[in-house]
Amino acid sequence: MLFATPTIYYCPSCNKPMLKTNYRSYTVHGSASYSDGERTGCPGFTPNLAKCPNCGAVFFLHNLWAKKEDAPPEEYRYCKNIANPVLADYIKAVEQGLAKTADEEIEARTCLWRTLNNITRNGGSFGSDTMKLWEDNCEKLLSLQEQKLKEITRTAELDAINNLRITIIELKRSLGRFDEVLQALKELPESCDWLARQFAGKCKKQDRMVFKVRYKNDNPEGDNYFIDEDGEERLLP
Ligand SMILES: [Zn+2]
Repeated sequence: MLFATPTIYYCPSCNKPMLKTNYRSYTVHGSASYSDGERTGCPGFTPNLAKCPNCGAVFFLHNLWAKKEDAPPEEYRYCKNIANPVLADYIKAVEQGLAKTADEEIEARTCLWRTLNNITRNGGSFGSDTMKLWEDNCEKLLSLQEQKLKEITRTAELDAINNLRITIIELKRSLGRFDEVLQALKELPESCDWLARQFAGKCKKQDRMVFKVRYKNDNPEGDNYFIDEDGEERLLP
């Protein structure tokens, strides 16, 4: 991994400087993708919804003034790296209305959604309060994303539109709206068939939780497998 000079930001709350690591190039090893768009195995990029390592304030990095990227090392030697918010920070961000635009609210709610999904992603299950928070957030995020889809349909690249449609499908599945999911899957292009089958399989089982997306050739043994009509993996003969 090659590092470039870090960017210096100043916390809007305590004014202390903090660093954002920049990568010149990196290699991804053993990355895994999930139905909510989460990817693991990539280097830890500084999130846009970030946290001050000194005072704990949470803010959108894109709203902060950044110092020129080529500051001399003596200027940033003693600065801490910008921290990643945790679940409690995302809950607070959403409840206290940190987001000032629809895009910021989508970002805050997406962070909350994926962070809550980490509970089941890592084998746990939701308690009733968490389930309520998760569903409530999915509902609001879905409505924001449906509005967004209307806005970008005329102008955005096909890939961006399809990715957003898949996000909407996943949010509807999270909310147990399986019939709508199955209908929406039919509207995806043929190139998404392999993924659509996995979503359809989960709907058949009425499974609402996040799942790991399977790719052909991605198993460690090196054998090829495919995803059958039920979303199950089958080894190629
Ligand atoms: Zn601060």
